[in-house]
Amino acid sequence: MNLILLGPPGAGKGTQAKRLEESHGMAQISTGDMLRAEVKAGTALGLEAKALMEAGALVPDAIVIGMLGNRITQPDCARGFILDGFPRTVPQAEALDLMLDEKGLKLDGVIELKVDDAALTDRIAGRFTCAKCGTGYHDTFKPTAKAGLCDSCDSTEFVRRSDDRRETVAARLDAYHQQTAPILPHYASKGRFYTVDGMAEMDDVTKELETLLARIKG
Ligand code: ADP
Ligand code: ADP
Ligand code: ZN
Repeated sequence: MNLILLGPPGAGKGTQAKRLEESHGMAQISTGDMLRAEVKAGTALGLEAKALMEAGALVPDAIVIGMLGNRITQPDCARGFILDGFPRTVPQAEALDLMLDEKGLKLDGVIELKVDDAALTDRIAGRFTCAKCGTGYHDTFKPTAKAGLCDSCDSTEFVRRSDDRRETVAARLDAYHQQTAPILPHYASKGRFYTVDGMAEMDDVTKELETLLARIKG
């Protein structure tokens, strides 16, 4: 199954995409994770992206479209993929349509995770991740079971994203409303577009998604 998970920053896309990856074997493709890896490695692409990401602005379409085009031809995508954080602009959505057509692939579902702006700021400000295994946590909504210890791998090191500061969140929400929200009608008019209430508890959102996936599979 090939899916897109759409939604504003902090909506829970990464959390849910990882769970679906585990339960269904689809490859989770996060353009944000890919860009952060480029920044960390200090590549030319990373250098170009870094300042934009820290300011809460989008990285140019040509960069992310090229990056995604390479990624979806990797062997692990043959069993299906779940896009998290792409597309984010109308030109990205159009480029994806073309790419999928060329490869003879289709989308089985485009799922919007709907969350109020007011809730997003708190979600983003409290987000942290295990430095070793990448498991995601939240200060209030999903703390580690034992303080300072990762539930999955026992690591004691955690990281916070440099763009997850309250000051940057407004710019990221702006970018979402101005540049990303216009792609919703692009997909709504094509069918196979679904909206899930992302305000619910994490496990309830997962249940909703699983029910939806079962329906899509028919
Ligand atoms: P996104 O990938 O859409 O930016 P994340 O999955 O990283 O969002 O979630 C943002 C933060 O909110 C994380 O700290 C995560 O643990 C937390 N979170 C995710 N889903 C929920 C939820 N349904 N309720 C409360 N907090 C959540
Ligand atoms: P979140 O899920 O919290 O919105 P992401 O990890 O998806 O964050 O993205 C972090 C940053 O990486 C974005 O603010 C943007 O600068 C950049 N980015 C990620 N994906 C894209 C994309 N498809 N197009 C343009 N910029 C992107
Ligand atoms: Zn860990």
